[in-house]
Amino acid sequence: MGKVKREKWSNEFSEWYNELLETAGIIDKRYPVKGMNVWLPYGLKIMRNIEAFIRAEMNRTGHEEVLFPALIPETEFQKEAEHIKGFEDEVYWVTHAGLDPLDVRLILRPTSETAMYSMFSLWIRSHADLPFKVYQIVNVYRYETKHTRPLIRVREISRFFEAHTAHVDFEDAERQIKEDLEIFDRLAKFLALPYIISKRPDWDKFPGAFYSLGAEIMMPDGRTLQIGTMHNYKQNFAKAYNIQYETETGDHEFVHQTTFGMSERLLAAVIAVHGDDSGMVLPPTIAPIQVVIVPIPKKDASVDVFAYAREIAEELRKAGFRVHVDERDIRPGRKYYDWELKGVPLRIEVGPRDVEGRKAVLARRDTFEKIPVERDAIVEEVKKTLDAIHENLYNRAKGFLESHIKRVDTIEEAKAVFEDRRGIVEIPWCGDEECGLKMEEELDAKMLGTPYPEEKAKAPEGKKCPVCGREAKFIARFARTY
Ligand SMILES: [Zn+2]
Repeated sequence: MGKVKREKWSNEFSEWYNELLETAGIIDKRYPVKGMNVWLPYGLKIMRNIEAFIRAEMNRTGHEEVLFPALIPETEFQKEAEHIKGFEDEVYWVTHAGLDPLDVRLILRPTSETAMYSMFSLWIRSHADLPFKVYQIVNVYRYETKHTRPLIRVREISRFFEAHTAHVDFEDAERQIKEDLEIFDRLAKFLALPYIISKRPDWDKFPGAFYSLGAEIMMPDGRTLQIGTMHNYKQNFAKAYNIQYETETGDHEFVHQTTFGMSERLLAAVIAVHGDDSGMVLPPTIAPIQVVIVPIPKKDASVDVFAYAREIAEELRKAGFRVHVDERDIRPGRKYYDWELKGVPLRIEVGPRDVEGRKAVLARRDTFEKIPVERDAIVEEVKKTLDAIHENLYNRAKGFLESHIKRVDTIEEAKAVFEDRRGIVEIPWCGDEECGLKMEEELDAKMLGTPYPEEKAKAPEGKKCPVCGREAKFIARFARTY
C-alpha cells in the first residue's frame, strides 16, 4: 500500500504545479502568447463540471444568463472615474479596423461593468423590474505585468464568471451579498475547499466599489489565493451610467448594484489544495472519471477479467457514476500511475481471482488505502467510499488552513510567522490606512482585510495597534498572496 507523500507538493510547489498541469492534461502553456494558455480536454471537462454547479446555483437563485460582446467603446469605459483608473494600465486596445484607425477606440473587456451598464439603463424602468439579476461566463483580458502563472495570473482569463445585480435600495443589495456568500459556501463545499472571507481595506477594493469582499484559500506554500469576490457598488455605477427606476410613488431613483466574480482560479485551488506528490486528487463531485476500473489479466487464466470489468462498469454507470475501464495493453502499474496523476478518486482492480470469488479491490486515491469488496456490494461500497473521500479531502484541507492562521500582537511575531511556515497572520489594527500600509511594507505582505462578517473583525479589548500604539479597532489579516 502506498503512502501519501507531500514533500515536493509543499517544498517545491511552483515546479510541482507547472509540471502537473501538463502531465495531467489540464492546459498547454506553449501557446505563443505570454499569459494565454490552451485548455486541454481533461482540464476543460473538470472546469465544465465546476461551471455546471455554478449555473445550477445561478438558476436556483433567480439569475438569468446573458452574453455581452467582448469589445467595449472607449466612451463607455470612461464613464466611471475610479473604474478607469483601476483598469487603464491593463486593458488591451483595438485601435484599427483593417488599415483604418477607428473613430472610437475599443477595449477588450477586462470585466464587464462598462459593457453592461449602458444596457441596464435601457432595460431597467420600474421598481417591478427589480431585483435585476444576470450573469455570464466569458473570456476577459488583462495585461498583467506581474509574473504570469497558468489558471492563476493570466492575460486571458478564459472562464470568467461575473454576476451583476441591481436593486431598489442598499438593504436589498446587502441581501444579495448574503446570497452570494451562501452560493459561494455551497460551491466551496462542492469543491471540498475550506476558505476565509475578508473585507478588503479601502485602498484595495474593486475600482468603483463601495466595499469589496474576497474569499481566500491556503496554497501548499503558505501563500493565499483569492478565488472569489463580492462587491457592493452602492449607486456609484448607476449614477455614472444613469440606471434609474420609477418608484411606486412615481419618483425616479438610481439603483443599487452588486457583483460577484470567480474564474478558473477555482480549478487552480482544487489542484493545489488537494494534490500530493503523485499528482492531482479530484473531489468526486467534479472528477470527469470518478471510478477507473483496471482489469489485471494473467496468462492461462480461464476467466475473462475484461468482461467482468465491463459488467461492473455498466452497473456503476446505471447507478449514476462516471466510470472508465482501462483496457490499454500496458502494465497495470503504468495505468495506476496515469490515473493517480489525473486524480481519479477511486480505482477498482479486478484480477482472475476476483472474478472467481465474485470480488474486487477498491483503491482510494486520497489515502492509497485498498479495500476488498464483494461483487454484489460494489455500488453501495463505491458510493460510500466516494463520499468518504470527499469528506477526507475537505477535512485535511481545513486542518491545513487552520494550522496556517496565526494571531499575533506585534510586527516581530508576524515577521517570524512569515519566515517560518507563512500562512495568514492576524494583527490588531487601529483602522488607519497609514498604519495598514506600514504593516504591509514591514511584513512584505498584503493586507487581505478584516474578517467578515463584521462581528468577527473587532479587536479584543485592550489590544493596541503595533504601528501607532493606539487602541486597535480591528483584526487585520496579512498574507503573501498569489
Ligand atoms: Zn495604527
